[in-house]
Amino acid sequence: IDIVKQKTPPVPPDPAPAPGPPARRQVMVVEDNALNMKLLTDLLEVHGYRAVGAVNGREALAYARLQRPDLIVMDIRLPGLSGIDAIRVLKADPDLMTIPVIAVSATRRAEEEAAVRGAGCDDFLVKPFSVQGVLATVARFLD
Ligand code: MN
Repeated sequence: IDIVKQKTPPVPPDPAPAPGPPARRQVMVVEDNALNMKLLTDLLEVHGYRAVGAVNGREALAYARLQRPDLIVMDIRLPGLSGIDAIRVLKADPDLMTIPVIAVSATRRAEEEAAVRGAGCDDFLVKPFSVQGVLATVARFLD
């Protein structure tokens, strides 16, 4: 019996991925203090993230719906809509609830931390924060 070996045609290689740097992850910083805003956005940009700012809770919600950031760093003491209320709205919205939120507060009061965590934030940082603490916390959600 002759066995005819059939040659399968060569499979073309997968096309090479498009060249270029990977897209930077977008972090929204919600902060009403201009100095803290600059410190945080500069720190994030230097470390390869795309940082964008919102100065109050309402702006944060509008921006989150429009731009879908990969992560939100949320100050708690904000004019108008507080950070706690903004987190509650974010975490009740099916389109936004999966965006991780790191809350930032200047107080170490246990009741405030409990209220902030109860609003649904994914992590909590106390001011004054350390550069390494901020970067490590951000990286935990994005890297
Ligand atoms: Mn504030």
